[in-house]
Amino acid sequence: MHCIGGMMKSVQRKNFGHNLVLQPTATCTPANEQEVLAVLDQHRGQQIRAIGKLHSWSKAVVADNVLLDLRQLNDVQLQQDGDHLVATVGAGCKIKHLLSKLDRQGATLPSLGLITEQTIAGAISTGTHGSGNHSMSHFVEAVRLARYDDTSGKAIIEDVNDGEELQAARCSLGSLGIILAIKIRCRTQYNVQEHFSESTRLSEVLDAEASFPLQQFYLIPWRWTYLCQHRREDDQARSRLASLYRLYWLLVVDFGMHLLITFLTRFVHSRRLIRTAFRHLIPSVVIRDWKVTDRSSSMLVMKHDAFRHIEIELFVRRDQLANALEYVQEVMKVAGGEKETLPENNQRRIEEIGLQEDVVGLYDQYCHHYPVCVRRVLPDNTLISMSCGTKEDWYALSFISYEKPARRTGYFLFASFLARSMSRLFHARPHWGKVCPLDAKELESLYPKFDRFRAICNTFDSEGVFRNSWTETLLKADSRSS
Ligand SMILES: Cc1cc2nc3c(=O)[nH]c(=O)nc-3n(C[C@H](O)[C@H](O)[C@H](O)COP(=O)(O)OP(=O)(O)OC[C@H]3O[C@@H](n4cnc5c(N)ncnc54)[C@H](O)[C@@H]3O)c2cc1C
Repeated sequence: MHCIGGMMKSVQRKNFGHNLVLQPTATCTPANEQEVLAVLDQHRGQQIRAIGKLHSWSKAVVADNVLLDLRQLNDVQLQQDGDHLVATVGAGCKIKHLLSKLDRQGATLPSLGLITEQTIAGAISTGTHGSGNHSMSHFVEAVRLARYDDTSGKAIIEDVNDGEELQAARCSLGSLGIILAIKIRCRTQYNVQEHFSESTRLSEVLDAEASFPLQQFYLIPWRWTYLCQHRREDDQARSRLASLYRLYWLLVVDFGMHLLITFLTRFVHSRRLIRTAFRHLIPSVVIRDWKVTDRSSSMLVMKHDAFRHIEIELFVRRDQLANALEYVQEVMKVAGGEKETLPENNQRRIEEIGLQEDVVGLYDQYCHHYPVCVRRVLPDNTLISMSCGTKEDWYALSFISYEKPARRTGYFLFASFLARSMSRLFHARPHWGKVCPLDAKELESLYPKFDRFRAICNTFDSEGVFRNSWTETLLKADSRSS
């Protein structure tokens, strides 16, 4: 067991976005479950948090006392369970390693985000999702946790495999205890066909979902059109040109387009050039109507972690999507200095919720410089993942900035205004793993079963030792429905 801490030096860490610094007093990388229990017994009474790959931007990831890194718990076992496939996966296993092990056995995960660098425990703990499916949390069938026994005070292992406890454990922000392993539903490997088209009409984009259920689309700022990445499962074999398509994506989109955006934002600082690039240049690098079929785990992901950035993602229900997208365009125009106020209708609604001064303060403070990715997420069977608690589909709208970490003041103003106004106007829920500027009361009000989640956390962790100061504010209030 490598436990650096207590009297010994603490190792400072930064998250991917470099917006958070972790300063643990002790850092432990246990090699197996017994060592996790030993660490818990050794540090009884102290705050203990596990981390994955620190790819979250939210304070969910902060661990300022005892930090556990479970990278060595990374075993993968695939079994047939009745008529479906289930993998038992060590908490610290990176998704990319899990996918390559599953692929060797002809299987894959039912749902994937844009990158595969995260650990499985980290990904499910914040409700990581892709497009056209439930989040990964939804497919979790059991969670193996280390926590303290209330009677003996000793560290124990508990398997959570049904009921509301499982719904809570599927997306728990690290608040039930230390996840040792999870069981997740898998499926046989499949191919995905994709092609791009551009449209000025949202209705046309949404109609295409019937033929392309896995699609996602992008609102192109300053051009105000929708670039649609139509995707569907495909029985056909991998296309002959699939390798060329991958190379094109890597060179032109993953690196070329992102280098250009990073260069314009970090070094040129010209809003006029940013707008011109989005109106004319950036959309033109995306080839339309090139239909390519490839393995799902290649097609659904990209190298989105190649350049440091920061992101807020807001989830709205389908019936709110059109108004929400119109509203974000108006806010981007105010923040970018194109308009001084919102159009009359939305300006009135902003006054009704008391945020009119915030619009004044936002004017000309931030020029958005990345396509707003819109992904459909099906309703989850969890207590607090972002698409839980409804029968309707949700749409996740993401706002990404490539500004240098030291120059993000305008972005934070924009993100905070969007989150606060959209939570009130559209009941928008911020992603738990991304910038999350709402206070505890506002967050709680967005989830009908938040009280149940809190009650279960308080049962599993009655001393609150698995919390950090952010989750403490969310979980400290008395549970009214317990
Ligand atoms: C470039 C990039 C692309 C992204 N793309 C997507 C995307 O497409 N879709 C999407 O939904 N999200 C996306 N994300 C967000 C990311 O998936 C989540 O923030 C995820 O939680 C990060 O996983 P991680 O392994 O880095 O965990 P961390 O960020 O290290 O931790 C996340 C949470 O999990 C908890 N945790 C981790 N391990 C354990 C454990 N063993 N026991 C208990 N709690 C634990 C931590 O305490 C923390 O609360 C992206 C992030 C980046 C940086």
